[in-house]
This record gives sequence, C-alpha cells and structure tokens, in this order.
Amino acid sequence: MSSELIARLRGIVGDCHVLDSAAEMAPYLSDWRGRYHGLACAVVRPGDTNEVAAVVAACAEAGVPMVPQGGNTGLCGGATPLADGAGVVISLARMHRILAVDADNDTLTVQAGCTLATVQEAAAAVERLFPLALASEGSCMIGGNLSTNAGGVQVLRYGNTRELVLGLEVVLPDGRVWDGLRGLRKDNTGYDLKQLFIGAEGTLGIITAAVLKLFPAIRSRATAWVSVPNPGAAVRLLGLLRAQCGERVSAFEIVGRSALALVLKHIPGARDPLPGAGDWAVLIELSDPAVEAALSVQLESALGMACDRGLATDAALAASAAQATALWALRENISEAQRIEGISIKHDVSVPVSRIPEFLARAGDMLAERWPDVRVVAFGHIGDGNLHYNLSKPIAGDNPDFIARTPEVNRVVHDLVTMLGGSISAEHGLGQLKRDELALYKSPVELELMRSIKRAVDPRGLMNPGKVLPEGSANPR
Ligand code: FAD
Repeated sequence: MSSELIARLRGIVGDCHVLDSAAEMAPYLSDWRGRYHGLACAVVRPGDTNEVAAVVAACAEAGVPMVPQGGNTGLCGGATPLADGAGVVISLARMHRILAVDADNDTLTVQAGCTLATVQEAAAAVERLFPLALASEGSCMIGGNLSTNAGGVQVLRYGNTRELVLGLEVVLPDGRVWDGLRGLRKDNTGYDLKQLFIGAEGTLGIITAAVLKLFPAIRSRATAWVSVPNPGAAVRLLGLLRAQCGERVSAFEIVGRSALALVLKHIPGARDPLPGAGDWAVLIELSDPAVEAALSVQLESALGMACDRGLATDAALAASAAQATALWALRENISEAQRIEGISIKHDVSVPVSRIPEFLARAGDMLAERWPDVRVVAFGHIGDGNLHYNLSKPIAGDNPDFIARTPEVNRVVHDLVTMLGGSISAEHGLGQLKRDELALYKSPVELELMRSIKRAVDPRGLMNPGKVLPEGSANPR
C-alpha cells in the first residue's frame, strides 16, 4: 500500500488509530481459535460513520481490499485478512455508543462496535430484554453478530439476529452511506435491503449502526439439567415441554457426554450435575416477564410427566440463581474446553429438528466404520435443529493424521446433512472455513444469484475478498 494512502488514512482517523507495526496489528491478524493467520498493511480504527465512509472511499480509490472486523470472535476466519497482506483491516471497536433508546417503540439504536453485553445492559436499563445471547457476548460486537446472523441459545423463542433487527446503517464498498436506520415493524416499500447485509460476513459493506428490537425483561426463570435416554427422547421432550409450557420454553440445549467430559476435565470448578447419568443431557430454561410465574413448579411437573413417559431419566433443577449459572457454565464452556483439548474437525450443521436423531445415529455409524476410534463431541441448539458436531482422535498423537483427512470427513458429514434437508452452516457462517464447501452444496442457480448480488454491490470485489463466495464454477460435483 502506498505511503500516500497511509497518510490519508491517518488524516481521517488520527495518527494513533492507524496501526501498522507488526506488534500492534498482531491481535487483529488471527482468529479466536488461532486457526487462521493473515497479514495486512494497516489496521484502521475509525471513530464514527463519517470516518468509516472516508476510510472506505480512500481504500476504494486506491483499489485496496478491506476486511471489516468486530470482536474477532468469529469461528470461520471471516474477520482474518488474507495471507497476501494486500488489505486493510477496518476495526469497529471504537464505535461503541448507544445512540438512542425508545422504550415505547421497544427499540435501541446502537453503533456497530458495541459489544453484545453492552447492548444487553442498555436494554436491561430500560427494563427490556435484547435476547441474543452467546458465550462470546463480552467480546463479540453487534456489527459482527449482524454480519454473521448469529444464533445462540435463545433462538428457539426469539429467532436469529436477522429477526431482531429493524434498521441498519451501512457504508457501501465505494464509501457511500446507506441510511436505513428505521425503527418500523411494518415497511413494505420494496426489497428489504437490510437483510442483504445481515449474514453477508462483511462482503457487501460495513455495518455502522443498527436499530434493534427489544422485548419485555425477564423476571422469572427455571433451569434444569436433564438426563435423557437418547436424542430421540430429547426431541420428544421438547414437544412435551412446549405443549405444557408454551412460549416460556426459551432454551433447550443438548449436551453429549463427551462434550461434558471435556468441560469437567478442563474448566476449573465445573461439576457434573448428574454423576453416573447416560450419554445425553439437555439444559432447559423456562422464562417469563411476570415475577410471580411459578416456573419451577411448571417445569418440575412437565419433567415428572417426561420421566413417566420414558423421555427423561433424571433431572437436577437449579434451586438458586447461582445454581442456574453453574448449569449454564457447563454448556457455555464447551467451546473453551474444546480449545484447550486441542484441534478437532468442527461442523456447525442444521437439519429439521425431527431428523436430529437420525443424523446423529447415521453420522456416528458412518464415521466409526471408517475411523473406528473417532471421538464425537456433539452439543448445541437441538431446539433449532442445530448441532455442533466436532470430531477428533482421543489420543492427541493420532490427531494430525486424522485432521489431514478433513475433506473426507466433511464429505461424510455434509453429504448426510444435505441428504436430510439440512445446512452445512447453521449459525457460524462460511468465512474462509466453509467457502469452498459452499460450491459443493449450493445449486448453480443459488450460487449465481449470490454472485450477481456481490457484483452489483461490490463490482471491484474489494470488500472482504476470499470469504463466503467460492471461486470458480458452481457445484462442480
Ligand atoms: P468478527 O469475528 O469480528 O467478524 C465476523 C464476520 O463479520 C467477519 O466476516 C467480519 O468481516 C464481519 N464483520 C464484523 N463486523 C462487521 C461490521 N460492522 N460490518 C460488516 N461486517 C462485519 N456464534 C453463534 O452464532 N452462536 C453461538 O452460540 C456462538 N457461541 C460462541 C462461543 C464462543 C466462546 C466463541 C468464541 C464464539 C461463538 N460464536 C457463536 C461465534 C461468534 O461469537 C459470532 O459469530 C459473533 O457474531 C461474531 O461477532 P464478532 O464481533 O466477534 O465478529
């Protein structure tokens, strides 16, 4: 990159917000898992939308690629620049203001660099709930959540991030600003442009602000860790709970014994709530805005019914907020425990909820046939049909050979997912990790539509190149 461009960027954001030494840039150049390492000619940290627009316009004029970055907690290498070092990382971290709170409209307008936790706190301050909840919420930023259409543990009741947004402000790849910061629940004036940018992983523009939907604050909760005989029973237990408790079922997470074992091994203070229980457990949460809601009684009664019907074998109900937090920590620390345990082949897949048991049984059998001692670590948002399905060898020394077989392993898992009508990326996105897989599983028509949108919005391909869209011809298989 030319020194003139660096000087121009310094002029826009101030000297101290253009980082170009290796040490200063290092945290921005690799991903959370440490799997991707890139290079950049600079990291630029604009302070407001006008500065983002000016930075983007300057890079576009110079033909320099741009990589938007939020909290850098993404799990697909989407925020990591490419190894060619040709691009600039644009970090939204300085843009962390709550711009407006409209409690009567149940909306919050925020800058894209607010962490998810900050957004949740701003909602709580006006006795409302912003329901997106991820284990990374202290670090991930709302712009990143929007760009990955993040899921998390309350999708069951409130939907993905896509469903939690009313308006967006976006800096387009040539530096123009699209102001779509509307707080409307009804607006049928043509194409819903905001949905293009949500889930685009920074390939169509930089989200600078958003109007988010708020919900009534939650004042009562009941939480239980429940042992189930098998995944089929877990699916039927969800049906029973919904029939008994309706919308109050706000989380329903499955945890395989191997996932729990990693947490018990690596996370200090973690304790098994049901020692000696079987291979599968679910973490259930009921919640309600009413203080007096007798949720524990309702949950206990539904679980009693579940035991009578053979859908549950044992349960630990949280008797206090601290116990509920401890149960949630078991679920939320799985990713961290996996990271400590070491590399594995990870899948973030979805199938219709009814087909989860079939997926687990068939994938397990097919993998064990080819790799007899494979260790399956399966957990996730079973209520949304979304499983994190991670594979490794139990003996660390055997793992490098197994990891080298990733393409074959992916073929087994992703072919089965596709056969069952599912998706190869349920909530984490594609980034660099699954970009080439997309070519195998999207139809030529879908891929061409996606490419046409990219060409229309970013004709020079400067916005987060090398992510999401595969190169070459569509669906080569
Ligand atoms: P980044 O990692 O910085 O970026 C992600 C992508 O968005 C990149 O492609 C980047 O270029 C783009 N981007 C970032 N900001 C902008 C912007 N302002 N405008 C345009 N593009 C932008 N994800 C889930 O969905 N559900 C989970 O339950 C979940 N749990 C997690 C648990 C842990 C412990 C960790 C580490 C991650 C987890 N994640 C989960 C993944 C991750 O936290 C989410 O994908 C999150 O939404 C990423 O936000 P971020 O700000 O860190 O984005």
